[in-house]
Amino acid sequence: MHIKIENLNKVYKGGSYAIKNLNLEIPNGMFGLLGPNGAGKSTLMRILVTLMKPSSGKVTINGTLDLAKNRREIRAMLGYLPQDFSFFSKLKTYEFLDYAARLAGMKNGATRRTAVEQMLEEVGLFEARDRIANKLSGGMKRRLGIAQALINDPKIIIVDEPTTGLDPEERIRFRNLLSTISTRDVTIILSTHIVGDISSTCDNMALLNKGNLAFSGSPEQLVKEAEGFVWLIKATEKEYLEINEKYPVISTIPIDGGWEVQVVAENINGYYGTQIKPNLEHAYVHFMENKLNSWSNA
Ligand code: ADP
Repeated sequence: MHIKIENLNKVYKGGSYAIKNLNLEIPNGMFGLLGPNGAGKSTLMRILVTLMKPSSGKVTINGTLDLAKNRREIRAMLGYLPQDFSFFSKLKTYEFLDYAARLAGMKNGATRRTAVEQMLEEVGLFEARDRIANKLSGGMKRRLGIAQALINDPKIIIVDEPTTGLDPEERIRFRNLLSTISTRDVTIILSTHIVGDISSTCDNMALLNKGNLAFSGSPEQLVKEAEGFVWLIKATEKEYLEINEKYPVISTIPIDGGWEVQVVAENINGYYGTQIKPNLEHAYVHFMENKLNSWSNA
């Protein structure tokens, strides 16, 4: 599956652009869409799942299917887990997924039963199949959410802010589940404002800010752009307070009566520190602080 987005715009009533002249290609595998709140991620997701029409521009799938003309075919190949996914209160987990399978058009009882049971196994909910879906833990609900998105064997899977509200263990489990699914012949688009959702799992990514595409490429490429901009400073208490005012601080560790402070900056004039290897979180901060500030003022 290959998605091509060309000159896409979305203007809401009132005239502000939620998506501005977006050009982006999304290949097979796991694709991370990262950006702060208000960047336009949900708007883009809603356009891609045909819940909303763009103001202008074009989206094609595999070079032949056009989002504006082939809505029904495209819907049939989509699985969507929205940010505010919620479900009917009284159904048991099995019944819920069975219902989703019926909605997806699986009419044959025996085939549906096999598909539902296999899916429950895959997302680790088989043991919980008789529990009321509404009473599952946050992580289990999300896994049931992905199960309903996958039941129809979709080729494009769109997941909006999947780990919001999950504890760390559930977050890792959910990421691993997506990772496993992404090894099939599918495209998974994962939209998030959490850098950690992207780093370990995505082959490619894009960074959106205020409706504009700020970066697209691999997470490694984004990290490379931050080389030379990440510092570990040894600071006294007084210096730490100054540094905190001047630079984006990534982390602080107390050491020998002072602090070891990680910052993202072009230089650290006057402080004692060394450069360190950037990770994706550093790169994201570098992009948002330096590149985008100068870029949005341009
Ligand atoms: P994200 O998902 O990255 O947080 P959104 O796509 O929700 O971003 O929002 C992008 C921009 O569009 C924001 O400025 C938001 O306020 C605006 N917006 C989103 N939905 C609507 C709407 N229904 N009507 C008007 N403006 C909207």
